[in-house]
Amino acid sequence: MNEFASIGELARGLRRGDYSSVELVRHYLARIQNNASLNTFISVTEDEALIAAAKADQTLQRGKAGPLTGIPLAHKDIFCTQGIATTCGSRILENWIAPYDATVVARLASAGAVLLGKTNMDEFAMGSSNENSYFGAVLNPWDNSRVPGGSSGGSAAAVAAGLIPIATGTDTGGSIRQPAAFCGVSGIKPTYGRVSRYGMAAFASSLDQAGVIGHDAQDLAVVLSLMSGLDPRDSTSSDHVDSWLESVAESGLQPIDEGLSIGLPGEYFKDLGEGATLLEAAAKELESAGCRLTEISLPHTDAAIPAYYIIAGAEASTNLSRYDGVHFGYRCENPKSLQDLYQRSRSEGFGTEVKRRILTGTYALSVGYFDAYYLKAQKLRRLIQQDFLAAFEQVDLIIAPTTPGVAFHTGDLTGDPVAMYQQDIFTIPASLAGLPALSLPCGFSNGLPIGMQLIGAHFSERQLLETSALYQQRTDWHQHHPEVA
Ligand code: GLN
Repeated sequence: MNEFASIGELARGLRRGDYSSVELVRHYLARIQNNASLNTFISVTEDEALIAAAKADQTLQRGKAGPLTGIPLAHKDIFCTQGIATTCGSRILENWIAPYDATVVARLASAGAVLLGKTNMDEFAMGSSNENSYFGAVLNPWDNSRVPGGSSGGSAAAVAAGLIPIATGTDTGGSIRQPAAFCGVSGIKPTYGRVSRYGMAAFASSLDQAGVIGHDAQDLAVVLSLMSGLDPRDSTSSDHVDSWLESVAESGLQPIDEGLSIGLPGEYFKDLGEGATLLEAAAKELESAGCRLTEISLPHTDAAIPAYYIIAGAEASTNLSRYDGVHFGYRCENPKSLQDLYQRSRSEGFGTEVKRRILTGTYALSVGYFDAYYLKAQKLRRLIQQDFLAAFEQVDLIIAPTTPGVAFHTGDLTGDPVAMYQQDIFTIPASLAGLPALSLPCGFSNGLPIGMQLIGAHFSERQLLETSALYQQRTDWHQHHPEVA
């Protein structure tokens, strides 16, 4: 059994009867166990998985299987799963069990995917290295002394190491794309509103979006199509209907055959070291496949990090007020008063980075500072959106680096929060503008993967994924895998 098989190959194997879903699930469960030292999973749901796999086998036997029937899947531990712990990588939710499934979880389960467990993440999705997890750091399977990226680092590292063929993630400012790049796998953050946020623990609600990490664009398209769509339980989910997306899970993703025009933003390439040559080669590859390359400008790129860290912090500070030691989650021992209960439950339950965001966010929203920080950040956000809207008058897609460099060493940036925040310079702008963006492996620097980012106009996932399929048809970077047990 090839542990790096795409879900398309696995689905064909299941239909041919090469193996059953129960066998497939046992195989991946053993791999998860053998690679426990990577720390990619917070919980493994073996018993539930075997039951679901047996049910999927019956569906397969009846000839009623869909593209995800019987396929092993992992969810980032930020999605609520009924009856299974949902920790958000935090002590404050260490023992919390959700009473309902997130829409994403429910939709993929009803498509027949088999949940194998919940993946490790930075606490409440705040981080770029996975070092902010209460459950310990995740190791990068390409080099265990390096970070896998964050906050969906567990999902990306697990897919890269062949412990699971596909995993969900969430991306507020880069948390799908950056770990996908650091781990050498593909990951898509859809247009804001494409996927329901119901049952996905909120970090920064105007930015949070669920997405997928997998081996190639084809797999991303299949899973995305089955998890997206309008949800009456999330008022920000979009009613945009895409007949292409609705049918792609059955019909398959075709590499794009029209020559798109692709913009390369000067601001993103100016200080790029090792990655620049690889990205230029990737762009040339698309050019020789018929795309036209143009230089473009996104002049407000520099404002993205400060604007994001004010807006995201502000939203986080209000979203996280619900963890108060009363309603649910961790409660301190022997509180002396109500005030003491709130203070100690939160002080003991949250980690350092989460506290930093709550403090800066509360400050930015407070009387006297609101105009100077929050309002100004919102204005910058608008300017960044306008940069993109102007660019998409000129080009169909944008190629950019996903990260400033390769995965850094564990511990290198933990003492310098601002240096850590700067890691997100290339992923945050698209998040602020609500645009779909994905990261694909496009080469290696000193044995470590580098990602190429494609950014599209709102609801242009089709172009993004079909262009990715074109690139992956012509290159094999997505077929390189780390050596693991
Ligand atoms: N690294 C960014 C942050 O810490 C983005 C995280 C995310 O996308 N969830 O906020």
